[in-house]
This record gives sequence, structure tokens and C-alpha cells, in this order.
Amino acid sequence: MFDWTEEQKQIRSAFRQFVQKEIEPHTRALEDNTMEPYGPMRKLAKMIGLKEMVAGALDKAETEAASGSQGSKSGGFGSQDPYLAAILAIELSRCNPGFTMAFGASVGLCGQTLMRRGTLEQKKKWAGPVLCLDKIGAWAITEPGSGSDAFGMRTKARKVSDDKYVINGSKTFITNAPKADVMVVYAKLDIPGEAEGTRPPQAFVLERGTKGLTTGKPLEKMGMHSSPTGEIFLDDVEVGRDNLLGGKEAEPAHGQVIDVFKGERTGVGHMCLGIIERVLEDALAYSKERKTWGEPIASYQLIQAKLAQMMIAYTNVKNIVLKQCYAEKKQLAVSLAEASAQKLYCTQVTTNVCLEAIQILGGAGYMREYQVERFMRDAKLLQIGGGTDEIQALHVARDLIANGVPT
Ligand SMILES: Cc1cc2nc3c(=O)[nH]c(=O)nc-3n(C[C@H](O)[C@H](O)[C@H](O)COP(=O)(O)OP(=O)(O)OC[C@H]3O[C@@H](n4cnc5c(N)ncnc54)[C@H](O)[C@@H]3O)c2cc1C
Repeated sequence: MFDWTEEQKQIRSAFRQFVQKEIEPHTRALEDNTMEPYGPMRKLAKMIGLKEMVAGALDKAETEAASGSQGSKSGGFGSQDPYLAAILAIELSRCNPGFTMAFGASVGLCGQTLMRRGTLEQKKKWAGPVLCLDKIGAWAITEPGSGSDAFGMRTKARKVSDDKYVINGSKTFITNAPKADVMVVYAKLDIPGEAEGTRPPQAFVLERGTKGLTTGKPLEKMGMHSSPTGEIFLDDVEVGRDNLLGGKEAEPAHGQVIDVFKGERTGVGHMCLGIIERVLEDALAYSKERKTWGEPIASYQLIQAKLAQMMIAYTNVKNIVLKQCYAEKKQLAVSLAEASAQKLYCTQVTTNVCLEAIQILGGAGYMREYQVERFMRDAKLLQIGGGTDEIQALHVARDLIANGVPT
């Protein structure tokens, strides 16, 4: 049977204590943007010993590079034990999904991409500081004119010499963009004399302060208020080969991006599980306390049916998360279609569970004080970011049509 081990339960309890002490009390300030998420994130990094873990991964990468092998592909928290990464994301999401998203975009999307795909120098210069949160990272593919069709991007990197590129374009809806120090930015390679669009997109590592790179103010959103989101503008940004992720043009970035999508799609289940767990606990407690006609509302079958549906969603999402952790631990491949199916299911049921939690709390559920409305607003984003529901469904159906039912 899939479940948390006793040791994992103890780790959860330690994380919960940290979150309740260091993050939960700041929820209102984080949501109102009178406080940035990066201070608490750095405390979290210290608590879990990220610096030591990253230093170990970089040492390993250096030794491997010296011996001529490819170098370490991952580093930082949870890279050796997927259960730990899941537990952390669950505990953070029980408290604040927006905070979790800002943390995940920096350490996961940006830091892990740099660690997996960067040269040794890029790992040391950028992956290390981002993975241990000395620097904040962002990962940017979406543009005003291309989201679901991300490879339809217009941002271009014109190659002006063997060692020089000039990047022009813009990115939008980018998590951490307003404050990020390091940004992995995708641009289509444009080589003078060649037809436009014949070269694949490439990833560049850009730093705040580079001439021509600016970022906009945080965008105002429906939810995920604890996670700053914004635009990146690139106006004749000159960079060298050192900024090209992996140090060479050869590999089209499609594979890198698909890897990131898979990680995002399977990882989102952790956030879903944390959110469902929290709102189900809140709704259950409220239903046992709140009385109408002299009886707790939990005694009414219509409320019980809602609680039962929420519990079914919780059980299914927990099973998906534990199975995914097992697959990662055993290094079993998960297809893009499987990852998409997981994301589609988990995110849809999470939004539904949050809506039902609001319903169970009645008027109180609509009030900010009770928090379930915040979880619902945050959960809705999970059906959009990292590929919308519709795009997940397309990927699942395409695989089904091509390969049949996997029995
Ligand atoms: C808060 C937030 C944070 C984000 N963070 C990041 C980030 O860090 N980095 C990053 O690169 N991006 C980020 N994104 C962008 C996100 O990944 C995109 O918003 C998402 O992929 C959808 O793209 P779009 O918004 O352009 O919608 P569109 O692609 O314009 O889609 C609009 C609608 O049309 C539907 N649709 C599109 N094509 C089809 C089709 N073929 N068939 C059926 N329906 C279709 C979509 O499902 C959707 O319902 C973030 C977005 C948000 C809101």
C-alpha cells in the first residue's frame, strides 16, 4: 500500500511546525504585498540546509566534469528523494499556494533547469546561487502573443558573431519576474541569411542589470497574490555564448521545455494535495461546529455528500502523488500524456473541492477571514499555468489516439 512512512510523517510534522511559525503568520502581509516571499524563502532554505546540499551537488558536478562525464544533472532539496520535495510542497501549499509557486518557480523551474542543462561554469555561477536562494530565479517562455502555443514565440536572438547574440522581444505572466536576479529566457535563433523560423528556440540565461533588460511592475491577479508575476522586456540585449544554456546551440530547446513541462505537470499534484487537505480539514471542522435548526450542518446528508466527494478527491490525489514519488524514486519514465492526465485530474478536482468548501462554510466561506476563498482563487491558477486544462486534454488524447489504451 502506498502511504507515508513513519519517518516521512515526522518530516512532515517538522515542516509543518516551521511553516506555522515562519510563514503562516505572514499570510496577510504576503497576500497584500506588504511583504515579499523571498525573506521567508531564505529562512526555509536555511532550515532545510539547502546551501550544504547544493555545495555537495556542485562538488559532484566538478568531479564528474574533471573525469570527462556529463556532470551532475540535479542538485538541491529533494533531488535525491522525491518524497521530500513532495512533502515540502504539500506543507507549504496547506498554508500558502502562492508562496509555494514563487518558491517552485525559482528553485524548480529556474534552478533545476540550470543544474540539468547548464555547463559546469553555468552551474557554479547561476544554478548554485538560485538553488540555495541566494539569488531569485525565473523561467520565461510565455509571451503576449504565445501561451499555449509557446513555441510560436516572437522573441528573437539574432546571432551577430560566433560569440554574440542580440535578443529582442518580451515575456509576460512570468513568476518572480519583478524581482528575479537570474532568468532562463527562451528565444528563437535568428541567423542572418537564413529563412526566419528555421532555427529552433534556445534558452539564454540573463541577469538583472544587463543592458536592455527591464521588468515591469507586479501584475494584479485574481489569486496567487503571494507570488509576484510580471513581464520581461528585452531591447537589444547583447549576450555571449556563456549565456547560452549548455554553452552551445546544437540542441533544440524543445526537449528541455518538454522536460520542464513534465516536471511542472507531475509536481503540481503536491500543491493540489496540500490545498485539498487544508480546505477539507477546515470544511469538516466548520460543519461539525456550525448549527442550523439546532443541529450541526455535518448531520445533514447534503453536506455529508459534499464531504464524501471531497474525501474521494483527496484519496485519488494522494494516490497519484505517492505513485509519482515512487516512479521518480525508481527512475521510471513517465510520459507527457501521463503527466498531463495527472495535472488535468488533480487541478480540476482541487478547484471543485475549494468551491465546495466555500459552500459548506456559507457566508463565512465568502469572507477573507476564513481563507477557503483564497485557496479557491489560488487553485484556479493551477488549471491555467503550466499548460491549461484544454492543452492537457489534447496531450492525453493525442497519446491515446497514437498508442491506444495502455492496458
Ligand atoms: C499567475 C501565472 C503565473 C505564470 N507563470 C509563468 C512562468 O513562470 N513562466 C512562463 O513561461 N509562463 C507562466 N505563466 C503562463 C502560463 O503558462 C500561460 O498563461 C498558459 O500556458 C496559457 O497561455 P495563455 O495565457 O496565453 O492562454 P491561451 O494560449 O491564449 O489560451 C486561451 C484559452 O484557449 C484555450 N486553447 C488554446 N489553444 C487551444 C487548443 N488548441 N484547443 C483548445 N483550447 C485551446 C486555452 O486552453 C485557454 O482556455 C503563468 C501564468 C499565470 C496566470
